[in-house]
Order: sequence, then C-alpha cells, then structure tokens
Amino acid sequence: MIQLRAAAAGGLRRGGGRSVPTGRSRKGASTRRVAPPPAPAPPPARHLFSDPAEVEALRRNLLAWYDECKRDLPWRRLAAAEPDADRRAYAVWVSEIMLQQTQVATVIDYYNRWMQKWPTLQALAQASLEVSTAGAWCCPCPHGSSSNTSPCLLEQEVNELWAGLGYYSRGKRLQEAAKKVVSELAGQMPRTAEALQKLLPGVGRYTAGAIASISYGQATGVVDGNVIRVLCRLRCIGADSSSAAVIDQLWDMANALVDRSRPGDFNQALMELGATVCVPKAPLCGECPVKQHCQARHRKLFSKSAPVPDVEDCGVGGCPLCPPATEPWDSSLGVTNFPRKAAKKQPRVERTATCVLERRGCHGASQYLIVQRPSSGLLAGLWEFPSFPLAQGLQEEEQREVLADHLQAWMGQPVAAGSLQLTGEVVHIFSHIHQTYVVYSLPLHGDITLDPALSPSRWVTEKEFHASAVSTAMKKVL
Ligand code: SF4
Repeated sequence: MIQLRAAAAGGLRRGGGRSVPTGRSRKGASTRRVAPPPAPAPPPARHLFSDPAEVEALRRNLLAWYDECKRDLPWRRLAAAEPDADRRAYAVWVSEIMLQQTQVATVIDYYNRWMQKWPTLQALAQASLEVSTAGAWCCPCPHGSSSNTSPCLLEQEVNELWAGLGYYSRGKRLQEAAKKVVSELAGQMPRTAEALQKLLPGVGRYTAGAIASISYGQATGVVDGNVIRVLCRLRCIGADSSSAAVIDQLWDMANALVDRSRPGDFNQALMELGATVCVPKAPLCGECPVKQHCQARHRKLFSKSAPVPDVEDCGVGGCPLCPPATEPWDSSLGVTNFPRKAAKKQPRVERTATCVLERRGCHGASQYLIVQRPSSGLLAGLWEFPSFPLAQGLQEEEQREVLADHLQAWMGQPVAAGSLQLTGEVVHIFSHIHQTYVVYSLPLHGDITLDPALSPSRWVTEKEFHASAVSTAMKKVL
C-alpha cells in the first residue's frame, strides 16, 4: 500500500506532537532518560493515494493523455533522440534551468540559440576552460574606443544569450557547473538525483529529479509549481502550499506516484497537465485525464453552497493539510480553492537615478555609456546606464546633486548638477522590488577619460546596446 511518510512532515512535527517536559528533578537528573516525542499521526486518508489500483489507473490515464497531447518542444525531441546519457542530461538540464520562473513559449528561442552555440556540456565547459587557462577572462573591449577594462568575453556571451530570461545568475551557474563536471568529474554527469543535487552548483531538488527521471529513467518524483497545483487539487490540500510541511508531503506523494517504468514521461505529464489543463484560474476539468481521481472536483460537484466548515474537511483546525478553519472552502471558487498560499509579501519600493550619457561617435552616430553591474546580487554582471540608488524623500534638486557626484567618479571631471536633464520615470517590477528609475540625460561634447579603477564600462551605439547583456528595465529606460 502506498503510504506517505508522515514522519517527514515538518508541520506535523511542529504542530502535532505533545510537549516533552524539559525540567528534571535533582534526583533523577543523571539517570532518567527523556522519552522521544511521539511519532506524528499520518495525514488523514483523504489526502493520500492509498489504493494501489487507483494509483495504477491514474498513471495509466495520465500517460495515455500525455502520449496523445504533449507539446512538441525542442528539449523533449533532443532527450528522446539522444542515445548518449551525458548529452541527454545536458539537454534536459539546460531546459530545466531556463524554465525556472520563465514561460515555455519564451524559453524555446533562447534554448535553441544556446544549444546551437554550446551543443554539449563539453563545448560549454571547454569554452570556459579555454578562456580561464589562457588568462583571457578580461580582454580588450571590442566595442568602444574609450572603454577601459572590459568584461570576460565568455561571461558576456552567456549574459547576452540569457538577457531577457531574467534571473541571470542561472546562466552563470550552469557554466560553472559544466566546468566542474569536466574538470572534477571526468566529464561524466552524476547519475542519480541525489548525486546531481549534491555535486552540481545551482542544481536543486527539483532540477536533479527532472534530469534523473527524464535522462536516466530514475523513478524519482518532481515538485514544481504546476505539480503543487495538480496534487493539491487531486487531494484537497488547502494548507499553505509554500509551507515546509505541505511541500514535504507533496514530495512524498510525487515519489510514491511516479510511474516506475516511465518516470520521466510521468513527471513531464504531471507538469504538462498543470501547464495546459489544470491551470491556475480556469482549469479545464471536463477535459482532464485524471478527473475521476480528483477530490477537489468531487467536492465542487457535491459541495454545499454555504461557506462554513464542511463535513468534507478532516476536522476544523485539526488537520495539517486541510484549509485553515478561518478560511474554509468557498464554493464560488470551486477547484481553485486549492492550492492556497500565505499572503504574499509586498515588494519593497525603491527609486534609482540613472543617467543616459550620450556623445557623438566617429561616424556621427550617437553613443551611450554603459557600465557593468557587480558579479553578484540583482542583475549580476549585466550592463546598465550609470545608476545610483536614491534615499527616500529626496527632492529633485537633491537627486541631481547625488547623481552628479556619482557621475563625477565615472568621468573623472566635475559634473554640474544643473546640466542633467530630467527626462522622465520608468517603473519596472522585479519579483520582490517595485523599482522606479528616475531618468536623466547628459549630452557630452568632446571626449572624456573613464577611470580604469572603476567597474568595466564602454560606449555603445543603440544597436550595440540592444545586442548587449542589458536588462529589460534598461531597454525601457533607453
Ligand atoms: Fe485539475 Fe480539474 Fe483535473 Fe482536478 S479535475 S486535476 S482540478 S483539471
């Protein structure tokens, strides 16, 4: 019988156990042993897949649907056709890293370009190694006559290929991990999910499970946003789906459900179902291949209309996987009652002054100064117009003064605050920051010497700007 491992659930450990006395009598202090906490109770049966026949039927129905309806995607084609396990794993790995936080439709083009440039792990690693052993990480800049230090060309290529996908450090970590496989693991990718997660930088539990199941056929589950949604609906899990307790339960469930003979296809099918049928807002339950196994749908069809604690909940406030008693089942939401998340934190509000410095290039074309961001943190290694974070509550005149001081450091000559022209504001929403760029411009006459002690910088034409590794926010600024 398939049972979830209740002992793994952090929430059960936290919420379900009796307290253990910690005070000890003087007499008994050295001899009495404190009893271990009682094992937490397993989750109620309605949140489990405890019938082997149902599990078999769910696997069968889901795989049959996947075989018929799956989207034709380049990484799936590569994984299906590639006989070499390392090449297969690399093809899956690149796709999984790109797909983190990014839509499939956006990724396809980036993926094709990446695989064309670095079709194998060896090619990516080799490029990195060649550059580093030749000591050519920093090299004369190919772009502008007045630039000082320039970036590592390879890193620049990676960033340029990645620009637009967001979360730029992912591309860099992929490159670092490829180097590690070649230089420390004799060119062979680790062969299990556990080893992948342990040995490769940037590979977490989900990515490791996806690579191992799709590339090597290891019977291990995966849990991503789509899987969370599908499983929470299939088993009416209404507790906070971002909590460790629920996530642990879902991993146990995914590992128990995964088809033993076609684990990679099963995992992709579950994710595909979440991406195309069991979507967040208006799921297509009528077309769902696993609707007969879905507790949320059953509940929707047979629930009462009143928003009161329901007899279908395991016990008001007592079940760690049911909706909290304060937020009972809402019949107007139907299956979209699940999953539920704790209220999202408001993004922090920031303002940044940024200056578009413009000069005439050798053929009279406009050129703009861009500078490279630090190699860690937000938008690591990307290029931007010289920018400076603004303290709250600064008046316009004060903003100009602050920005002029900042530019003076770049240009090595005084910049009059009054010469900065306020052009407007650009708002860009990062996942956790509501950023407003206060945009200034400064036309320059004559050449200036940039301080080589500062971060890499270069002059670019508009065309070169768009081909550079610049963020979407900076494109908006231009
Ligand atoms: Fe999702 Fe509806 Fe299918 Fe249930 S029946 S898994 S809610 S699409």
